[in-house]
Amino acid sequence: MEDIRANLEAVHGRISQAASKAGRAEEDVLLVAVSKTRTPEEINTAIDAGVTDIGENKVQEIMDKYEAVKPVKWHMIGHLQTNKVKYIIDKVCLIHSVDSLKLAKEINKRAASHGIVMDILVQINPADEESKFGVSLSDTKELIMEILENCENIRIRGLMSVAPAVEDPEDVRGYFEEVKAQYDEFSKIEHERIDFKYLSMGMSHDFEVAIEAGSNLVRVGSAIFGARDYGNLEG
Ligand SMILES: *Cc1c(COP(=O)(O)O)cnc(C)c1O
Repeated sequence: MEDIRANLEAVHGRISQAASKAGRAEEDVLLVAVSKTRTPEEINTAIDAGVTDIGENKVQEIMDKYEAVKPVKWHMIGHLQTNKVKYIIDKVCLIHSVDSLKLAKEINKRAASHGIVMDILVQINPADEESKFGVSLSDTKELIMEILENCENIRIRGLMSVAPAVEDPEDVRGYFEEVKAQYDEFSKIEHERIDFKYLSMGMSHDFEVAIEAGSNLVRVGSAIFGARDYGNLEG
């Protein structure tokens, strides 16, 4: 059994160190605990230990766990199919993974029918990896402008990125810095439906580098809950 409470303390220590190294405060960095493959009991333990925000990468897992988990903010961080938007539109506070106008339009439609404005991040694929979702750096501005033009029930709150999986996180610092540069540029866009607040970058093995590069939202799973066993929940 993982000691979730102790793990969380260690993660907070790492966040605090990275933030201070970057001349920022720990409170400037939102920790989203990524609970894919985890049980409601494990998630509730994390919530009891102070976690306020939970991230899932699959619609099905949000639906399966939603009722059994204590009140908390849910984040959709994984690839989202348009036909599944309707299941989570009233459950999540932020969708991190918007990478097409088609998806944005569906979110917009569902948000409108619920009478809400949905907060989203645009997902960038900075290394243009085939295996990853996200829009390329060069197409990001166009997508943002199209969403602003077409989606009255969406508010763009920032950018999200998943760096390539590498052994040494120093190797992806450059990608994080590129996304941060874009974040700063797009922050200047003036429009009533854009209000940048979150730069979602960094996972268990690379969040210190991400924070140093300017991330203010980290998505941390295994460092909190232990290594994942995909045996029963995925595949
Ligand atoms: C699983 C996942 C994470 C967390 O990964 P860890 O390495 O367990 O911290 C973060 N972001 C996304 C999009 C994920 O799917």
